Amino acid sequence: MDSTDEFLGELPLPPHVTAEDATFAVKAVTVHVAKQWPDGLRCRNDRAPHPCRLHRWGRRVLDLRGLTDRQIRTLLAEQNAPQP
Ligand SMILES: [Zn+2]
Repeated sequence: MDSTDEFLGELPLPPHVTAEDATFAVKAVTVHVAKQWPDGLRCRNDRAPHPCRLHRWGRRVLDLRGLTDRQIRTLLAEQNAPQP
């Protein structure tokens, strides 16, 4: 556990998860992906130990939204697809 993580704790979740929150969550999970660093798995974006706070926040929002892993993967694929 990172010391900054301990100090700041978890990010607050929105009281009602909207479609917009879910979009932000998908972005957070997409940007804050695991990357292999010499000292282990860390966030590609902020180099915090993976899963970092934003990644965990994104996953919790998507859970609250009631999305299955499969639906999340579909959203991630859409997010990563080239825009028309
Ligand atoms: Zn991160």
